[in-house]
Amino acid sequence: MSDTKIKNVIIAGGGTAGWMCAAALSKLLGKNLNITLIESDDIPTVGVGEATIPTLLVLHKLLGIDEAEFMAATNATFKLGIAFDNWRDVGKDYIHSFGFIGQDCWAAGFQHFWLKGLKQNLVTEIGDYIPEHLACREERFAILANQDKNYAYHLDAGLYAKFLRNLAEKHGCQRLEGKIQQVNLREDNGYIQSLTLASGQQVEGDLFIDCTGFRGLLIEQALHTGYEDWNHWLPCDSAIAVQTQTVGKPVPYVRSIAHDSGWQWRIPLQNRTGNGLVFCSKYLSDEDAKQLLLNNIEGELLNEPRVIKYRTGTRRKLWNKNCVAIGLSSGFIEPLESTSIHLFQQSIVRLMLMFPSNGINQAAVDEYNRQCRSEIDNIKDFIILHYHLTDRTDSPFWRYCKNMPIPDTLKHRMDLFKQNGKAVKLADELFGEASWVQVMIGQGLMPEQYHPIVDLMSDSELKDFLDTIKAGVKRKVNNWPNHLDFIKHYCQAK
Ligand code: FAD
Repeated sequence: MSDTKIKNVIIAGGGTAGWMCAAALSKLLGKNLNITLIESDDIPTVGVGEATIPTLLVLHKLLGIDEAEFMAATNATFKLGIAFDNWRDVGKDYIHSFGFIGQDCWAAGFQHFWLKGLKQNLVTEIGDYIPEHLACREERFAILANQDKNYAYHLDAGLYAKFLRNLAEKHGCQRLEGKIQQVNLREDNGYIQSLTLASGQQVEGDLFIDCTGFRGLLIEQALHTGYEDWNHWLPCDSAIAVQTQTVGKPVPYVRSIAHDSGWQWRIPLQNRTGNGLVFCSKYLSDEDAKQLLLNNIEGELLNEPRVIKYRTGTRRKLWNKNCVAIGLSSGFIEPLESTSIHLFQQSIVRLMLMFPSNGINQAAVDEYNRQCRSEIDNIKDFIILHYHLTDRTDSPFWRYCKNMPIPDTLKHRMDLFKQNGKAVKLADELFGEASWVQVMIGQGLMPEQYHPIVDLMSDSELKDFLDTIKAGVKRKVNNWPNHLDFIKHYCQAK
């Protein structure tokens, strides 16, 4: 495709995506590259994106980020899961936590044992068999030497971008302030040759990373890559975000509260709470959405509510010619399971693994696009599950979600679970069996049978097995300190 050696990398845009990309490339590949990031002080970042998932810890390790320092700098708290209120039905709540459930055996996941226990009245809710789940409810947290890393963070998106910017600049990334006015293409192959800034300056590059947010200045406006719209599966297309003073102690989980035409998030930081309402404009106006959000928040407002419009979907190719779209320019599923930062982190790692130092070739581009697409499709199915698998019929929005056609791949997973109690984690899949099980059961899908291997245990053995796991979870979590006390000791913001 192009034999041009890749030496000059231009990152367009300086939100979380741009600075994360700059930090990773400059720290890990920077010695061989000239990396420049262009951002405009006149074009604000989207400014939300405050809940993360455990994979972020892996990237931070690669970047050599000190956890306590990063948390203090971004007012971060710990996240162990998401509490879903009113999603299954009004008044019915559950938690999707990051942990593993109970103890699997070679043939069957723990849910099979729990299901038989349920039939015999031997069990309590499935979360009692997951330490992270119980810790959410008891607001406890600890980091232990031999503990798996089943936690993530709530963070201030603006401060996080600043933190990453420091790291990127320390490793040699050059920052250029200026508005990109024009994207100039080469006549022979349509590759991007340079960007023209409002000042008239031309910035040439070999590889361009589009982190310009929803506008997709390079990948879409210049290269016309195309967008696959998922509005029919994920109909929410608007959000209102506002920050408030925290009331009470910050909890170690996000609260996701379903309303008539969408849902509300509550994300606790050390110094404030991030709030927002995600909604479908077909059923709720911006003004009514704003009022609904304001009626349902706690604490004094710290800023004016801000409306954000978006289209759920994905760019048809995330890598097109010599342009890679990372961040919101590549598409947006929706914030329900906090997957955006994870997705662009994955894109960055993939790009580094397939970095086209000696020129861009089609096989690498195709493989990159295949891997990204496969991961996005699996996440998309998981998010649709939350909306579709509901007993709610109390508003036109929920009736639409309950009755809408869903992807065959999701239907298969729901049938598999319903008929066999089996959940699977596919290749290139982010969410594991424990996540699918928690959400499917939480949303009310109960399997019709459990695996026959469970019957190899006598009733008293099954009771012992279930009781021992539950008691172990309780013992473990009871030893953890209160979440806020742990933060004060470990990473208190200045
Ligand atoms: P932006 O933040 O929009 O940054 C774009 C950058 O491009 C800016 O620096 C801007 O100055 C620059 N730019 C644009 N045009 C030009 C130009 N012409 N010239 C120069 N510079 C330009 N993700 C999560 O992981 N967890 C969450 O909980 C979460 N919640 C979300 C809630 C909502 C309602 C939304 C909409 C998103 C949420 N996300 C979440 C996604 C998250 O906000 C984004 O992934 C993240 O902020 C990255 O955005 P970005 O860097 O791609 O774009």
